[in-house]
Amino acid sequence: MTNKEGKGSTNYDAVIVGAGFAGMYMLHRLRKLGLNVRVFEAGEGVGGTWYWNRYPGARCDVESLEYQYGFSDDVQRGWTWTERYAAQPEILRYQNYVADKLDLKRDIQFSTRVNSATYDGPSGLWRVETDKGDNVQARFFIMATGCLSAARVPDFDGLEDFKGKWYHTGGWPHEGVDFTGQHVAVIGTGSSGIQSIPIIADQADHVTVFQRTANFTLPAGNRPLKDEEIQETKETLLEKRKFARTTPGGIICFEYNETLLEEMTPEEVQHELESRWTQGGFAFLGAYGDEMATDEANKVAADFAREQMSKRVMKPGLAETLMPNDHPVGTKRLCLDTDYLETLNKPHVDLVNVREHPIERITEKGVLADGTEYDVDAIVFATGFDAMTGAILGVDITGRDGLSLRDKWAAGPRTYLGLGSAGFPNLFFITGPGSPSVLSNMIVSIEQHVDWITDCISRLTNGNIGMIEATPEAEDEWVEHVNEVAGMTLYPQANSWYMGANVPGKPRLFMPYTGGVGIYGEKLDEVAAADYEGFRLGA
Ligand code: NAP
Repeated sequence: MTNKEGKGSTNYDAVIVGAGFAGMYMLHRLRKLGLNVRVFEAGEGVGGTWYWNRYPGARCDVESLEYQYGFSDDVQRGWTWTERYAAQPEILRYQNYVADKLDLKRDIQFSTRVNSATYDGPSGLWRVETDKGDNVQARFFIMATGCLSAARVPDFDGLEDFKGKWYHTGGWPHEGVDFTGQHVAVIGTGSSGIQSIPIIADQADHVTVFQRTANFTLPAGNRPLKDEEIQETKETLLEKRKFARTTPGGIICFEYNETLLEEMTPEEVQHELESRWTQGGFAFLGAYGDEMATDEANKVAADFAREQMSKRVMKPGLAETLMPNDHPVGTKRLCLDTDYLETLNKPHVDLVNVREHPIERITEKGVLADGTEYDVDAIVFATGFDAMTGAILGVDITGRDGLSLRDKWAAGPRTYLGLGSAGFPNLFFITGPGSPSVLSNMIVSIEQHVDWITDCISRLTNGNIGMIEATPEAEDEWVEHVNEVAGMTLYPQANSWYMGANVPGKPRLFMPYTGGVGIYGEKLDEVAAADYEGFRLGA
């Protein structure tokens, strides 16, 4: 059989979409099972989010000694990290190192975007079509498309009129951009904006930062790694990884203090907050047990954060605009910065508060906000992603009896365990909505899912079982549970991308599972031990 471009139709056991951390490990595991696997990847190389996000200053906010695979002693011993928080080029080199070491690239078709996947009931196979004219079939279809991969430029009027150059942080030119001598507008002050603005300002003659929501940010405390800590990790990583899977966030470089605020003395609270702030990173959100659970407890940490941030702001009047005051600390992703607030003190950097001075449109010359036109040579959109569902729904997925995933999820994603969705047999999501995903160390959660999916597929193939599908009842119960647990936290209070609030028209509901990696892992184990309870297994 040939399609219109003359390519042959090919059968695989499994098709994986995406060759980031998730797709690479999934490929490795399924190949070890003896399956014939094809990965389709839109980029020209492996890396996923780290392939595309090459903006200046791009850096991981999880410590590099933990932000690496933990499934192979050989792989981890063969790589040496240099900094506490690895920069994007180093992470991408690491991913290529792993891909080469495991000889993964021969099964990955690069520069190929999957357009659609359709389940054929009679044969029980998925038919997958790509923008390069591939038309392949597979029993298992696995979305390893990442949570933050569908970059989003807001629908500003007039962008097509702009005579300068514009960029999105999530799709940065590979050759880099030199802003020397330029006037630059940066729109967005989430992690990507906060990381890139200091470097852009080092080059540019003038930078105008457009801020919609003031964010909590703390100094990352990046530094070169010491030989002793590198060595210690090499000796212990695999063992520590087992432990990481029992923790709430899959991170072990700090511990959550479980004592409630009211059970601590003011001195103890101050000590916890200070030491965690100085440590840098997400440790700050674990200063006491109810920090993310009650407004009163959160406010103590938020006040502390605002006080620390204010100390770094010198320009008159600036602190007022920069102080986050419309959401509890941690309910939008906490930002880790290197000299962000100090950069805003510089005379050639201006901050525009978009809430007071809304952006009206992009013009030929730059950005028009509240009647003022900001003339610039370049605009950087650090405006984020259609998170968690954007990349999944970017593929036109049709399940049993013509059911479209886009239709099914029109009011928000519905999954069982974030792994599967009723009506879509043999379709797996890696770190899908309804799993801890972005609230955890992504690599720990990816490994947890890939291991579970591998065991599941192994059970099916060994048992001569052709099909697994979440039941609607189990899915309804899980969706309700995810909402209920999120409702016990402060997270839903913020207009965050966790809630879909950054995309106009997107349904608002809290997408990740807040129960934590450890508790969630116990549930995964129980489900598997009960022969995939909540899933229907069939011929
Ligand atoms: P983001 O957190 O969604 O930030 C986007 C920014 O653009 C926000 O300030 C947002 O304002 C603003 N924005 C969006 N639409 C706008 C509009 N129409 N007008 C004006 N402003 C607008 O995106 P991100 O910074 O790319 O980060 C996304 C996530 O990726 C992070 O939270 C993190 O999980 C991950 N990330 C991690 C790192 C790291 O590891 N260090 C680095 C980069 C990204 P509002 O807040 O008002 O929506």
